[in-house]
This record gives sequence, C-alpha cells and structure tokens, in this order.
Amino acid sequence: RDAVSPEAGTEEQQAERALRPRTLDDFVGQERVREQLSLVLHSAQRRGSAPDHVLMSGPPGLGKTTLAMIIAGELNAPLRITSGPAIERSGDLAAVLSTLQEGEVLFLDEIHRMARPAEEMLYVAMEDFRVDVMVGKGPGATAIPLDIAPFTLVGATTRAGLLPAPLRDRFGFTAQMDFYDPEELERILHRSSGLLDAPMDAEAGAEIARRSRGTPRIANRLLRRVRDYAEVRGDGTLTLDTARAALDLYEVDASGLDRLDRAILDSLMTKFRGGPVGLSTLAVAVGEESETVEAVAEPFLVRSGFLARTPRGRVATPLAWNHMGLTPPPDAAF
Ligand code: ADP
Repeated sequence: RDAVSPEAGTEEQQAERALRPRTLDDFVGQERVREQLSLVLHSAQRRGSAPDHVLMSGPPGLGKTTLAMIIAGELNAPLRITSGPAIERSGDLAAVLSTLQEGEVLFLDEIHRMARPAEEMLYVAMEDFRVDVMVGKGPGATAIPLDIAPFTLVGATTRAGLLPAPLRDRFGFTAQMDFYDPEELERILHRSSGLLDAPMDAEAGAEIARRSRGTPRIANRLLRRVRDYAEVRGDGTLTLDTARAALDLYEVDASGLDRLDRAILDSLMTKFRGGPVGLSTLAVAVGEESETVEAVAEPFLVRSGFLARTPRGRVATPLAWNHMGLTPPPDAAF
C-alpha cells in the first residue's frame, strides 16, 4: 500500500489504481458519508484551515482508501499513506509526523493495529500539532516538544469499536461505511467495464453485482475474472452466461458467499450443530485468524441474515441451513 512507483504491485493493485474514482462525484453510493464529507471539506476550505480529522470504519473493500485519496484531491493537498502495522514503535510515527507538510493528509490504514505507545503520541499530535520526542534513556530521559505542521488525519479501521475511546474522541467526524446495494454495485461495474474496455451487458452486470458481497473491491475483482473467461472462452463480451459460468468456476455462489463464508457456515452446522459457538473456536475450526473471521467474513454473513451474533456465540440461522442444503437438528439454536 505504501507510495511506491505507480507501476509496482500485483495485477489486483494495478487494477485497483486504474479503477479508483478520483473525485467525490465519481464515488458511487454512500450518499450520507459523501454529503457529510463534502460539508467538512468545503467548510474547512472556506475558513482556510485544515479540516477536522476523519475516521472511516467498515469492512475491507468498501472504499476507505479511495475516500482518503479523494479527500486529499479535493483539498489539493499532498497525501501520505501508512498503516497501523507499519508503526511498531512511537519513533516510527514521530518520523512520519515530523516530516508532514502543512495541510498534508495522512492516511493511517488499520489504525487499530498501531503500537500502544504510538497511540499516545498520536493523540497529542492530533490535538496540539506537537510531538514529544524522547531524548535519552531511563530516569534521565527528557521529552522535547517539537511543533509539527497542521495536518488532517484520515484513519481507517474495520471496526471503530476496536479503537480506544481517547483516540476515537479526537476525530471530528466518523464515517461509517456500509455495504453497497446491488444497484450501486451495478453502477460501479459498468464504470469499470468501460475503463477496462470489456463490454458487459446489463444482465451480466446485475449478476456480478448480486454476487459481490456488497463490496466494490469484490465486484471489480469478479468483473476481471468474468472478463478473463469471456476473452478465453467467448468473444470477449460479458454476458449472463459467461458471468454465471465464470463465477461458478471461482466458487462464488448465487448469494455471493465465497469459500471462507461457506466454510464458516459449514463448520458451524456440521461441527457445532448450528451453534452457539465462540468466535475463536469457530476460527480454529476453519483454520483462520479470529480477526479475519470477524472483520472480513462475519459482517456480510450477519448483514445477509445467515449468521447471528448472540451473547453465547455465533448461531446459524434457518436461512443459512436452507442455503447450505442441510437440515438442522431438532434442538438447533434457532
Ligand atoms: P478499503 O480501503 O475500504 O479496503 P478501497 O478504497 O481500497 O477499499 O476500495 C477498493 C476498490 O473498490 C478500489 O480500487 C475502488 O476502485 C473500488 N471502489 C471502492 N469504493 C468505490 C465507490 N464508491 N465507487 C467506485 N469504486 C469504488
């Protein structure tokens, strides 16, 4: 994710760069967030000051990085990109903060994964535009305050609840990103198919949108897989038939559930009688990190009514049993 040369990266990263909307007007959906952001940005511009810090929360692939780039673009400000896991010590953060230019937008992805000591440094920087640089070690160590340029922090996290309250409170505005409707995804897909020079008919667009888990990143990824299929096995046009055949080949089912989603439901039903079962037990059963299960798979399963979170654990819903073609035991939790 770091700002390396524009040609670098995997096919996915290159495609994402090419398909990224550059202005708030090009950004599809999330009407409320767009309107809120537009107000924050334009009022700050009128006052001639750096806008308040912005926190964006929501599952991966919904457009948080894209919005950070758009914010910088709309402000005509330079953008610096880093991420929580890259900040292992407070010194790493001090190095970034002390080299910011006036008005720069700092995008801190996965902000909840930043080292604790750095968090404290960030509070002070956000509030007072100052970092306290520690000089020396042990009892003789002293903090030397250093003024930094006023900047706008754009933090992104998969769940705002993961952030300590003092950090959360220092954001002037939290944008809660939500899954996209199929109709919005269709608009994104048609825009992307134009940019990729891959003609797609309306039915194909609707089919891919339906299977995209409400997520633009997934929509664009599936679009590329259907394009590959259409190029190799068809005449290059994306039709309903090519879309269905390609998506079946890549194990994306009619509701958009992918392999991990289905593994979770399958384990829940076949190993735990449909639950309730704790998150970490379920994660071990499917061989994934708890965080991945919780941040990547669950939000969509819950939102689509396949999974319920209860105080005693995760439970498969009747819709899930039905979708997986399994019969719940008579004493199933639902
Ligand atoms: P996040 O940072 O939330 O993981 P990104 O901002 O990287 O997500 O978005 C993933 C991809 O999805 C981007 O390459 C972009 O092309 C596309 N995308 C995301 N949101 C939108 C949107 N609202 N309109 C059009 N494309 C979008």
